[in-house]
Amino acid sequence: MKTRIARHPAGALFLPVKLTPPGFRPVLAALAGLGVFALFSAHAADTPAPRWFKGNLHTHSLWSDGNDYPEMIADSYKQRGYHFLAMSDHNVLEEGVKWFELKAPTVVKGEVVQKGGGAVLEKYLARFGPAWVEQRETGGKKEVRLKPLAEYRTLLEESGRFLMIPSMEVTSNWKRPKTATEPELGGPVHMNLTNPVAHVAPVAADNALEIMQKSVDAVLAQRTKSGQPMFLHLNHPNFVWGVTAEELMQVHHEKFFEVYNGHPGVHNDGDATRLSMDAMWDAILTRRLAELKLDVMYGIGVDDSHEYHQMLLGKSNPFRGWIMVRARFLTPEAIVNAMEAGDFYSSSGVTLADVRRTDRELAVEIQAEPGVTYVTQFIGTRRGYDPTSQLIPTPAGEAARKTLPHRRYSKDVGAVLAEVKGTKASYTLKGDELYVRAKIISSKIKSNPGVAGEVETAWTQPLVNPAK
Ligand SMILES: [Zn+2]
Ligand SMILES: [Zn+2]
Repeated sequence: MKTRIARHPAGALFLPVKLTPPGFRPVLAALAGLGVFALFSAHAADTPAPRWFKGNLHTHSLWSDGNDYPEMIADSYKQRGYHFLAMSDHNVLEEGVKWFELKAPTVVKGEVVQKGGGAVLEKYLARFGPAWVEQRETGGKKEVRLKPLAEYRTLLEESGRFLMIPSMEVTSNWKRPKTATEPELGGPVHMNLTNPVAHVAPVAADNALEIMQKSVDAVLAQRTKSGQPMFLHLNHPNFVWGVTAEELMQVHHEKFFEVYNGHPGVHNDGDATRLSMDAMWDAILTRRLAELKLDVMYGIGVDDSHEYHQMLLGKSNPFRGWIMVRARFLTPEAIVNAMEAGDFYSSSGVTLADVRRTDRELAVEIQAEPGVTYVTQFIGTRRGYDPTSQLIPTPAGEAARKTLPHRRYSKDVGAVLAEVKGTKASYTLKGDELYVRAKIISSKIKSNPGVAGEVETAWTQPLVNPAK
């Protein structure tokens, strides 16, 4: 049995031991022995130790362009061992009354598809029952009600075990009209809003930077007004090549971007003329810390899942990328606060037993799998780096692009400062690093990857040199 007499800080009934009159102590002890204090223990829980919570902050459902019911998706993540999930549909919060029309089946690539209907509806009915699943027919239209988050979360959430976090994907596009010298330009700017109290509208502008800054500012205003911890992160910069590193690095108060997104169309690895997410991150960190005097930026791993019924290459499936957040409590506030402190890592398969970031040292301990080997790269930029960069031209023969060119930075930006094999690795600052981050690359080919040939990887958040 647990008693908390001596440790209870302020409860009137629980006099600190030192202040308890001597004659009273045996009485307290006797009461404790009888279990009297067990009654009060439930109100005076110990502070739990920080632990790792696994979650995905980027998920789509039938509320926008995902192909399953939100509680089916949430249930599958919970069963997979996730602790938290944010359903981030395009430009919509899962609120209010929404009926989803079951349109006539169509044939797509030889497959009969009926979004939300057929086998998908049958599975939904089988899992949650006909009393939960609401259907109606009006004017010849068959409809199923999409449950709002506030309603369906009650079926799935468990204290300390599974949490739903409100979210939406603020989905904007930049567009620049054709000029005498340039074709029409444009691209997507998608930003996920985690734990809002209210909807944030997309922004129309002729450049991605303005969209990002106005969106971040709108979220900051909402946060200030409501007092609720929330953040906006930039999604998949290379989706349709919509956002360049030079634009993202200039956004004030932006703390996060997606270093790994499991959607097959987002070009995490860039291509011959465009930067990978790792290279973008290093350009952003280097220039923010050394030149722009802006804050560090953290990298998030997500699924961006839309398709839940066939797990295969080319589909935007769940369970590919996630974050592990170290927090004491499984609440939206604790998760957001820990992430803003950089106390999390991103993964596409590698699990870390520990990550330590002190003022001088970054250390990781890998939870090794049998037969798998690991290489930890400590990546950073040193003061005195070569700051030059060149625009990468569109290859000869390719039609003019509708998006902006990327820049190639010098080899000093995001250099591999050390490489360690094995399951434990640490890096001690030598003094001239601006930052150092760890990328843990395993020998294990990822099953059902976003892109063929991916190996399971983890990314820690950067340690910024306090003496930078
Ligand atoms: Zn998106
Ligand atoms: Zn998305």
